[in-house]
Amino acid sequence: MLGSPGAGKGTQAQNIVNKFNLNQISTGDLLRNEIKNKTNIGREIEKIISKGDLATDEIVDRLLKKVVISANIRNNIIFDGYPRNINQAENLELILNSDNQSINYILFLKVPRDIIEKRILERITCEICNKSYNEFIDKKEIANHKCGSKYLIKRKDDNNEAVINRYDEYMKKTKLVLDYYSSRNNFYEIDGSDEIEVISSKIEQILRG
Ligand SMILES: [Zn+2]
Repeated sequence: MLGSPGAGKGTQAQNIVNKFNLNQISTGDLLRNEIKNKTNIGREIEKIISKGDLATDEIVDRLLKKVVISANIRNNIIFDGYPRNINQAENLELILNSDNQSINYILFLKVPRDIIEKRILERITCEICNKSYNEFIDKKEIANHKCGSKYLIKRKDDNNEAVINRYDEYMKKTKLVLDYYSSRNNFYEIDGSDEIEVISSKIEQILRG
């Protein structure tokens, strides 16, 4: 599942996970876990993203390989926001080929920049379960959140300038990733500015063939 920061990849991936019983791998979560556990690599990552930059390929590939080939989830994975660039895309092919796995569907959620910006700035995320809400639209869900609404916070990297940096950097690098995949017959571009439910049902249709 490809799409810029704030395109709704996490939400859509979660829906697919529930409906098709898959394992969601988000490099963001892999990276955040390292930060939370205060590992050496976590401290390195924290420095990089506090500047609005993205973690290096070497860090991401190292964290990813371990997970992708693990016996309990292999062959049953959705990647949320990965690969972000050509190096990562080629590396993913190597990891999958070496383990007799392959990509069945490539989904690209396309959303204009102004909509992305608004969505990210209005997003709050649970520190415990990682669920995200829109602070204005999801008032009822926020009040009833199972972990308690006090754990719903704006992430540290969700400030205006970092958002714009991340969007621009993503679009620049992902252009090449899209070129890399778009000629394949399992590549699908989806209008990510639609309502969440509309997007979900489009994706489900694709995955059910
Ligand atoms: Zn929660």
